[in-house]
Amino acid sequence: MDIKQILPGSTLGVLGGGQLGRMFCVAARTMGYRTVVLDPDPLCGAGMIADVHIQAPYTDHAALEDMAQQCDVITLEFENIPSQSVRFIADKTTVYPAAESLEIAQNRDKEKQFALTAGLQPVPYFAIRQADDLQQAASEVGFPAILKSNTLGYDGKGQFVVYDLSELSEAYHQAGKVACVLEKKINIRCEVSAIVARNAKAELASFPVSENQHRNGILHLSIVPARVSEEISQQAVNYASMLAEAMSYVGILAVEFFVSEDNKLYFNEMAPRPHNSGHYTKDACVTSQFEQQVRMMCGLTPGDTRLMSPVVMVNMLGDLWPPDWAVIFARNNIKLHLYGKNEARPGRKMGHFNVLAEDVNSALTVAEEIFERLSR
Ligand code: ADP
Ligand code: MG
Repeated sequence: MDIKQILPGSTLGVLGGGQLGRMFCVAARTMGYRTVVLDPDPLCGAGMIADVHIQAPYTDHAALEDMAQQCDVITLEFENIPSQSVRFIADKTTVYPAAESLEIAQNRDKEKQFALTAGLQPVPYFAIRQADDLQQAASEVGFPAILKSNTLGYDGKGQFVVYDLSELSEAYHQAGKVACVLEKKINIRCEVSAIVARNAKAELASFPVSENQHRNGILHLSIVPARVSEEISQQAVNYASMLAEAMSYVGILAVEFFVSEDNKLYFNEMAPRPHNSGHYTKDACVTSQFEQQVRMMCGLTPGDTRLMSPVVMVNMLGDLWPPDWAVIFARNNIKLHLYGKNEARPGRKMGHFNVLAEDVNSALTVAEEIFERLSR
């Protein structure tokens, strides 16, 4: 197949201008591409980096048309871009990932069904479409369980842990009686994620698997290499690759897994974009996930994903603001990344830092110590 490569000097677009869009724009500009971001927020983090910021809602057809006119290829920074907007643009210029992949990743029920078909194992679950389904969901899944809305959830939002049918019913009403999945709450040994990259020539590359620790439903730390067996990490990479193949996916695909206490690897969810748990690649891999995103959408060969150093990534939420910068800069092995957000709120992702060390345990010790000192 003859796939045209999009080369430096061309213009790349991104729908969404948060931190992921911002880091995409930095990577693209570093490589000599022009960048256009579409985001309604006049102060969005990517708007200050991109060559052009189109300030408009994601559903504004004139704005989407304008963006399509300017761009050789367009990508997305998060999965809640309306897929109709992606379809609208796809008629005018190239968009990766495709609307079909986006639609799978936007919906928990769909993504679990897709994962099952592709040969992966989600946690036992039941799809709730109406109130009548609650009883059957409860008896099939059992308790404790987690009710998750099918769409628009992130960082633990739209989720309820429930212990009996009456709590389930209450949570369902609180969720607004929208379509949901009820998932068995399992005992997790640890969580890992695998990030793979695939271009239109079906060339595939995978990043080292990350071990992820969450606090209050939000990613707190990523530890790489993950402290799991070689079999588990290889299986996580294989599963993520199988999903990418099954969707004929083009772009960066991040897949989250649970490792259960009996060492089974369960599919949790996927994101059709670079992922918070891949921010370690910015300092620790030959190619970052954002450079890889550029390479994939442009039809270039995947960059080397080799890990050059053990690393621990720590998220910096608004809760830490204003941090004592001296604590970070006193160390010579910490790389700071800030997202240019002018207002700090609790739970808001403001930046992250990567701790690089000769072994992963030393990196983790430093990461935890620095985080503790910043939290005081
Ligand atoms: P989000 O889209 O908000 O990231 P997730 O489904 O990944 O939602 O859930 C957030 C976190 O909640 C997970 O990373 C995990 O720590 C915990 N969690 C989610 N589902 C389960 C489950 N079935 N059993 C145990 N813990 C879970
Ligand atoms: Mg998640």
